[in-house]
Amino acid sequence: MTKTVFEKTVNNISTKPLFVNVEEYNGEFKRTKELNLPQMSELEVMRHYKELSDKNFCIEKGFYPLGSCTMKYNPRVNEEISRLEGFLNLHPGQDDNDSQGSLEIMYKLQEALKIITGMDAVSLQPMAGAQGELTGMMVIKKYFEKKKDFRKKVIIPDSAHGTNPASAVMAGFEVIEIKSNEKGLVDIEEIKKVTDKDTAAIMMTNPNTLGLFEENILEISKLMHSNGSLLYYDGANLNAIMGYTNPKLMGFDVVHLNLHKTFSTPHGGGGPGAGPIGVVEELKDFLPVPYIEYKDGKYLRNYDKKDSIGKVSSFFGNFNVMLKAYTYILMLGRNLREVSSDAVLNANYIKAKLKDYYKIAYDTKSLHEFVLTTENLHSTGVNTLKIAKRLMDYDIHPPTVYFPLIVHEAMMIEPTETESKEVLDNFIDVMIKIMNEINLEPSNFDNYPSKTPVKKVDEVLAARHLNLRYKKDE
Ligand SMILES: *Cc1c(COP(=O)(O)O)cnc(C)c1O
Repeated sequence: MTKTVFEKTVNNISTKPLFVNVEEYNGEFKRTKELNLPQMSELEVMRHYKELSDKNFCIEKGFYPLGSCTMKYNPRVNEEISRLEGFLNLHPGQDDNDSQGSLEIMYKLQEALKIITGMDAVSLQPMAGAQGELTGMMVIKKYFEKKKDFRKKVIIPDSAHGTNPASAVMAGFEVIEIKSNEKGLVDIEEIKKVTDKDTAAIMMTNPNTLGLFEENILEISKLMHSNGSLLYYDGANLNAIMGYTNPKLMGFDVVHLNLHKTFSTPHGGGGPGAGPIGVVEELKDFLPVPYIEYKDGKYLRNYDKKDSIGKVSSFFGNFNVMLKAYTYILMLGRNLREVSSDAVLNANYIKAKLKDYYKIAYDTKSLHEFVLTTENLHSTGVNTLKIAKRLMDYDIHPPTVYFPLIVHEAMMIEPTETESKEVLDNFIDVMIKIMNEINLEPSNFDNYPSKTPVKKVDEVLAARHLNLRYKKDE
């Protein structure tokens, strides 16, 4: 058997202890007084952290209807599989020959995502949705450079997630923002006005961030392609359409997915995530390296792709997240379709029940999420933020607020398919109760939340003077 990279490395490590004589060291880093550490027993520390963790809110504790974020339940089997010793202890530098099982899983996940998105090739490397966007935009850039057609502009609707324009700019494009129409959809006439031979691509989310399906997508893709431009699909909302349609059928050329949203792997607090991208045949050669392939009965990492944009992560992405997503996909198989129909049903159930109490921002057919506005409550002094804070008193995580930006006083509700009717009914009851509270005594809303461990905070101060450091004497 060939020696693994790991063995070779271990054999070259000296086992001699690193000896620093503290007495002889007189450099500037020498400590002059004792470290100011808290003096606690192990039990006291355990109790402290247990108490802190009890104060935390998480999906295992309650409803988490954070719009656009798809905070669905992560089945425990995902965790179980991702912690199998063989996966856990595999070093990313291990030879292909010794990592066949893991490479096979990555390859098969690529294949599964190809089917789900309809795309011709998938790269698992990007570690977040936003990094997937950047990678996708770099692929588009490379495509035009290769054609010696140096297009500069990318069209993005005003309802887009903030990461879309940021990614386009980071990849070196100029962003042209277009306004949505009165139905909350992209206006094809607006696209026509700004499209010319300098237009590289349009970035769209479908269903868009209002939860509405862009009905004119086929017309839009025809228009863009006839201009030689490409279409980028922000797939963070794939939970709404999975198994019913796909970005390829809509005419998209590049798509990113959020494994940590649609495919149940947990997220929040900054990661870990995975934002694989899929592309059509014409863009395949530009994908990042290494590309996971299957050749002559062997799975391998191919670094030898001359037109590739290069590497976008140190090894090949977040393998642990891939394992969880692949487990989820295998577990559901063809039933992935039901994920979407149940997610859409749950969102529409809440919307229908709240319609008589709250103002729906765009009351047309919506999919897996919907947006309401509290603009009409202006005279009471109660706004979306205050309602969000009050929801915490009822042990419910507030929905996404003040996004999308095109809706004033927005509250974006996405229940996901993993919640029961009881949970949805409780949320509806609480929202109605809150509306009654507003009608009775709106001034109370200045003091909420009242039951959480931390009460009303000064959000500006908290953001400007973040202080997370322990210092004994402060
Ligand atoms: C979450 C989200 C993103 C960004 O994904 P991250 O993994 O947070 O970087 C992009 N677009 C939409 C619509 C999203 O909901």
